[in-house]
Amino acid sequence: MNVSVVLFTSDLRVHDHPPLRAALDEAAETVPLFVRDDRIDAAGFATPNRSAFLADCLTALDEALRDRGGRLVVRSGDVVDEVCAVVDATGAGSVHVAGGVSGYAQGREERLRSALTERDCALHVHDAVVTAVAPGAVTPTGNDHFAVFTPYFRRWAQQGKRKPLAAPRVVRVPDGVGSEAVPSRADVPDVSPGVPAGGEAEARSRLTAWLRSGVAGYADGHDDLPGDRTSRLSPHLHFGALSPVEAVHRASKKDNAGAEAFVRQLCWRDFHHQVLAARPAAARADYRDRRDHWRGEDEAADDIAAWKEGRTGFPVIDAAMRQLAHEGWMHNRGRLLVASFLTKTLYVDWRVGARHFLRHLVDGDIANNQLNWQWVAGTGNDTRPNRVLNPVLQARRHDPDGAYVRHWVPELKGLEGAAAHEPWKLPADERAGYDYPEPLLELSAGLARFQRARDRS
Ligand code: FAD
Repeated sequence: MNVSVVLFTSDLRVHDHPPLRAALDEAAETVPLFVRDDRIDAAGFATPNRSAFLADCLTALDEALRDRGGRLVVRSGDVVDEVCAVVDATGAGSVHVAGGVSGYAQGREERLRSALTERDCALHVHDAVVTAVAPGAVTPTGNDHFAVFTPYFRRWAQQGKRKPLAAPRVVRVPDGVGSEAVPSRADVPDVSPGVPAGGEAEARSRLTAWLRSGVAGYADGHDDLPGDRTSRLSPHLHFGALSPVEAVHRASKKDNAGAEAFVRQLCWRDFHHQVLAARPAAARADYRDRRDHWRGEDEAADDIAAWKEGRTGFPVIDAAMRQLAHEGWMHNRGRLLVASFLTKTLYVDWRVGARHFLRHLVDGDIANNQLNWQWVAGTGNDTRPNRVLNPVLQARRHDPDGAYVRHWVPELKGLEGAAAHEPWKLPADERAGYDYPEPLLELSAGLARFQRARDRS
């Protein structure tokens, strides 16, 4: 075959890239293609923070391909139309793409298949590119996916995983394939100030540094809010600048409890992907209907605004929401706390929170975001759906000296130690000196409302 096409989606790298490897092996020349997909823009997923990170990833991918004699071809429009235009212009005999999990990705695959069949061009969909273990590769008896994490993890851990592939040495791209300029972060407006740099080299060096000096402390430190002792690899994994297969492979070689705990977290990522692949509607609808009558945007407008802006009067909640606004990222413990607070203490629809997260998160991901929100809201895969996290007790445990709160809520920096978690306990005259809101509600009142709602269901 003379020409093949590799369509990059959530796999913006040259290392450990089975579709790229297969496309290069198969043809003398290959078109590495990325399409800025109209439908993804129209659905509101191309947010400033993710667009900035994406631009970094595409710039890095283009550079990596140029180092090998090739380049990245960038187009905008309908992804199927653009792939077909490249196939028509080059006479390509095959298109290679990573298997996706969302309803959208599954639909894209179907549309590609039928458009390419008409052109006598083969479509090859590659598994275990976006996840370490392909959705559907391990299933329980009598079901198409695992609904509970622990049994999934047992099977996932035993499942043979392929060895990571080296990056190709040479990429030959046919002449004359038109491309737009590769997007640049500098052209993206309204990016949060703390959004990190993206790109494959950045992702790989972060993984290397993490495995060398961070991961050993992960088992003990992963919930340490001020310590910031997690890998921060999530945006790199989301855009596929880092291969999950390679991350699991390299971490598994480390013989310590931290690495084991880290691999288990990577399995959570695959777990949610396999749930979404089997139940694409869970991106919008309750995975398990608890007959909730959530409060929505209209009914709870003031509470929602306070939550979004980080002025609920509960310092750890406000700190985490402000971290999100500043960095486009939030510590996992923070995510659990703010999601529990919104859905259970304020009894607001999980979709309101999930939408806000997707608007800001650099790692914002349909599988991980929607299903983690459902997990916390108790409509998903948590085996204890009615548990409610108490933000004060949690703050005392995971931010014992109040350093995380004082960092993100500087109004409270005069409060020493754990006193920062309960400013309402100050005598009234002292309290008046802090420009910080009163708590939105009594925690016990929120808890009682939630329990009444769930008792009815
Ligand atoms: P680490 O603790 O270093 O973990 C390593 C990797 O494991 C992460 O990068 C991530 O890929 C994966 N991982 C860890 N925890 C989870 C988890 N609970 N579920 C799935 N994968 C996990 N993660 C996203 O990648 N995108 C999202 O949109 C997202 N939304 C979330 C929303 C809520 C309400 C909650 C509670 C969690 C959400 N998470 C999401 C999961 C988790 O919070 C982040 O993956 C993690 O905080 C990223 O930081 P890290 O890379 O330092 O993680």
